[in-house]
Amino acid sequence: MKKINIILFLVYFTLGLSQEANLKDLYSKKEYDKAIKLAQTNLISSPEDFETQLMLLKIYNSKCDYPAANALLTKMDSSDAKFLIESLKTNYGLGNTKEAKRIYDQLIKNSKNEVLKNELLKFGLVTGLDPIYDDWKIKETQNIVFHFQQSVSAEKMQNIVASRQKAFEKINNFFNSVLPKKIDFFVWDMEESYNSYLKTNLGFTFAQFCISHNRINQSPGHEIAHNISFWKTPEQKKIIFINEGIGVYFDQQGNNRLEAAKEAYRKDPANIKEIWQNKRRAEESIMYPIAGAFIEYLIQYDKEKFLQLTEDQTYENAVKVYDEKIDKLIEDFLKTLESH
Ligand SMILES: [Zn+2]
Repeated sequence: MKKINIILFLVYFTLGLSQEANLKDLYSKKEYDKAIKLAQTNLISSPEDFETQLMLLKIYNSKCDYPAANALLTKMDSSDAKFLIESLKTNYGLGNTKEAKRIYDQLIKNSKNEVLKNELLKFGLVTGLDPIYDDWKIKETQNIVFHFQQSVSAEKMQNIVASRQKAFEKINNFFNSVLPKKIDFFVWDMEESYNSYLKTNLGFTFAQFCISHNRINQSPGHEIAHNISFWKTPEQKKIIFINEGIGVYFDQQGNNRLEAAKEAYRKDPANIKEIWQNKRRAEESIMYPIAGAFIEYLIQYDKEKFLQLTEDQTYENAVKVYDEKIDKLIEDFLKTLESH
């Protein structure tokens, strides 16, 4: 009898362990939907299993499904740092900024782990939870929360608020995306690219959390387009050539995109297929205008197909979406660039 119990225990123990390993494995492979199903199955037999709950919470956050994460959060409670970090992400992702700030401050105060603390400080700088933003001016519209560095003049602020809100409406008229919160739109009073606080070049977008950091002299729509196109499908497969083309096409500058692309192409007759597949890098000053005009070309060709390409931007997906005609489309586009 005892023997059987031991065997049963061993079987149960090994099964339990392998399920946990499986869950982590699926998560690291980004197979979120499978991981969610497995975690939910595990939770039926042991609903209070904190490790599985925490894993599920992490998966929801990585999938940018903040409402599902929030529903799970209400059933959990812990002062464990790993749990608080997930709770921080969920709250920020839903736009519960006050609660996110409270958790953030608590984590920073109590954190004894230097690596974790550094990660948190980086997160705070990008999300606006860091105290350096305490004296920034905040303006809010229907879709955007603006954060202005103190020195930005009232006139510039007004101009940026109006033009960016308008850009949001125009761009989302096209995509019809649903964002989980307003875009946190940071405007630094600087024209040069390198930002020494963030230790990176501006502008950039962190679409998972609807955040953009901008220079004062950026186009109205570029960073907003990155946020909106991402939320068409948060599991988007992003490729730099298509993604930046979207940024350029929707920048709301009113430039002649074809002319700009022709000029770039004259300087460097870039091979689109190689750049698209990341086999060759091209200077931003060449790639951006060409990508912008190419997106214009694809949208005029077929909007629905273009929307499918937005979700999975790989060249391989384009072959499928455009019924194996993508090489011909690239060829025709290049002819328009070569024409006078
Ligand atoms: Zn961009």
